[in-house]
Amino acid sequence: MTTIRPLAAGNWKMNGLTASVAEIAAIAEAAAREAGGADVLICPPATLISAACSAAAGRIAIGGQDCHARASGAHTGDISAEQLKDAGASFAIVGHSERRADHGESDEVVRAKAEGALRAGLTAIVCVGETHLQRESGQTLAVVGAQLAGSLPHGGKATNLVVAYEPVWAIGTGLTPTLADVAEVHNFIRHELIDLLPGEGAAVRILYGGSVKPANAAELMAVENVNGALVGGASLTAKDFLGIASVYK
Ligand code: PEP
Repeated sequence: MTTIRPLAAGNWKMNGLTASVAEIAAIAEAAAREAGGADVLICPPATLISAACSAAAGRIAIGGQDCHARASGAHTGDISAEQLKDAGASFAIVGHSERRADHGESDEVVRAKAEGALRAGLTAIVCVGETHLQRESGQTLAVVGAQLAGSLPHGGKATNLVVAYEPVWAIGTGLTPTLADVAEVHNFIRHELIDLLPGEGAAVRILYGGSVKPANAAELMAVENVNGALVGGASLTAKDFLGIASVYK
């Protein structure tokens, strides 16, 4: 059986000003002591990446929340993976459901962004997940399977690719799937990864995301093929995020 080192990742979304970098310093300071069994990552807004890297001082990883597919060019307001890397990031989230919904990002666009991340030497965290309607109509595995087939980058490996399963209806709502439902989807993703990425898929990390809190982290992280968490709201304070990451003492 492959041993997979877990990843506890925080996604700050459009939250955080300069003062919030103190939370990153606190997370970095405590991470080795309280979450030594996992890699720890915070993805702040792009404006804070450089300051976050200074505060982290290599003790935790810092990532971007999105990247453009191209390395440079006339794309006002966008940020390339190369620019994230230059600012000190080592990961980029791509295909978050908020990007897919707010910016109409298709699987094809997400794949191009993920390939941009790999080209720049970043690890891509590719997000997938069904809406409430899709779950209610029994389409969860079909939707997630299509997103994986359409969004995973060519050249994805265990060392440069992470998949995050985030049911859209669980993000920021306080709702979570049952543990059996999480297991079903994560086991399905594992099988798909093994098929799509021969020789690599068995070791790619699969994160669960959607209303992970200190109170439910241990049970969610214990589910088969859950190799860590992607955390939104509860990653904004060191106290809550460490309450989750410390599952991996
Ligand atoms: C997310 O946005 O990736 C997320 C999982 O958010 P939350 O933890 O707030 O549900």
